[in-house]
Amino acid sequence: MNIIEKRKGQLKGFGIILLFIGVAALVGGILMIALGSSNPWMIIGGIIVGVLGLAGVIVGIIFTWVSSAVKATHGSIAEENLAIGTVNIHKCENCGAQVEEGVQICKKCEENLKP
Ligand SMILES: [Zn+2]
Repeated sequence: MNIIEKRKGQLKGFGIILLFIGVAALVGGILMIALGSSNPWMIIGGIIVGVLGLAGVIVGIIFTWVSSAVKATHGSIAEENLAIGTVNIHKCENCGAQVEEGVQICKKCEENLKP
């Protein structure tokens, strides 16, 4: 598992946890408002908890959605980025030695490298 895959998994896990906490807080807030209809402090507390819960749900959805979006483009963007990391190292066609990008002549066998 590479770093991109790992980060994606962490992001999705965090998003789902946040989503669950948000839903629980939202339900808790609504219950506080419903049960404490005679107590203004319960209503205020319920609104605060409910708004925080709603924010948690939204952020959780964004996190989960973003991690899914990254997964959806895995074949194009993620693979391309991985390829860029490896493309920087070229192999000499003559001796197979690793040569850095932009180097014209192989350090090992002095073969003239094509760009
Ligand atoms: Zn060479």
